[in-house]
Amino acid sequence: MASPLRNLITGGAGFLGSHLVDHLMEAGEEVICLDNFFTGRKKNIAGWIGNPYFELIRHDVTEPILLEVDKIWHLACPASPSHYQFNPIKTAKTSFLGTYNMLGLARRVGAKLLLASTSEVYGDPEVHPQPETYRGCVNPIGFRSCYVEGKRIAETLCHDYMRMNATEVRIARIFNTYGPRMLPNDGRVISNFIVQAMHNEPLSIYGDGSQTRSFCYVDDLINGLIKLMDSSYSFPINIGNPEEIEILQLANIINSKLRKDLEFKYLEIQDDDPLRRQPVIDLAKKELNWSPKISLDDGIEKTCQYFRKYYSS
Ligand code: NAD
Ligand code: UDP
Repeated sequence: MASPLRNLITGGAGFLGSHLVDHLMEAGEEVICLDNFFTGRKKNIAGWIGNPYFELIRHDVTEPILLEVDKIWHLACPASPSHYQFNPIKTAKTSFLGTYNMLGLARRVGAKLLLASTSEVYGDPEVHPQPETYRGCVNPIGFRSCYVEGKRIAETLCHDYMRMNATEVRIARIFNTYGPRMLPNDGRVISNFIVQAMHNEPLSIYGDGSQTRSFCYVDDLINGLIKLMDSSYSFPINIGNPEEIEILQLANIINSKLRKDLEFKYLEIQDDDPLRRQPVIDLAKKELNWSPKISLDDGIEKTCQYFRKYYSS
């Protein structure tokens, strides 16, 4: 019998990483979850501790590590603006040194590496919606730059390792994703609105709320990552839900979903907050036979159920 595939998931105790851990463990593969627990929680992967196919390592990806693995899912990096701006220099180090260390590991052991990149590489886009061919409009010295430029250099490193060392790489440009296990203090918009609504607090709208995003439910996203890792496509590819929505509209949906009529609290918007964001997913459809299946309405319902349980336990 063939031995199970050995997966390393960096950032495996975080929001997306822990869902990926679940999926691979349920598929009978071996998983090493590596995390420094900055925004990740042991609780997210606690159910697997003690399983012989699962290992948990506390480690920071800015330091090298040697492990024997077949696939590296490189997700380690805080994703919420409030978290990645907490220590921007550390965020840039995590993206650059972390990706450099993981690519070095991939090269040494002949593993395939998937980078969790981001739609933020498009910056505040002048092209709408955004195809992978768009090169972005990014401020190199703003509040978001530590994250955005970090991910851009991480993509560069992947392709240079591929060209110089024939390292097999996959690059997912992930658009806003939401679902169970987001932290209540995560700072991202869907979790903020749900948590505020559950506490009968006004919903915090940055700016006038006319900026747009396109939200993907976590299960769809994880399916996309798995299809990408299994594919032979080594260029960046958008993974996201193309259903675009204004932030104000989102606030109204969450108000009515939770049967509330909460007021809005308008707050100053940060510089470089992208005005519009929507993925073109033709490439993912063609190369991966992937498209999202879960509607915003169903996804928000599932996320509300999670937070209801979170606050009642
Ligand atoms: P998250 O903050 O929940 O998870 C990140 C995980 O990485 C956490 O467990 C954290 O503790 C860990 N981590 C951070 N720095 C580390 C370091 N130096 N060493 C080891 N571990 C470290 O965020 P998420 O939403 O799960 O995002 C996961 C990945 O996906 C990130 O790389 C993020 O940039 C990317 N991404 C996410 C989204 C989204 O909407 N969720 C969108 C685009 C890209
Ligand atoms: N946003 C908001 N209220 C909040 C949190 C976020 O209006 O409580 C806005 C934010 O300004 C941005 C959008 O919602 O325009 C998405 O923010 P998020 O932090 O979720 O993701 P990102 O900006 O990284 O896409």
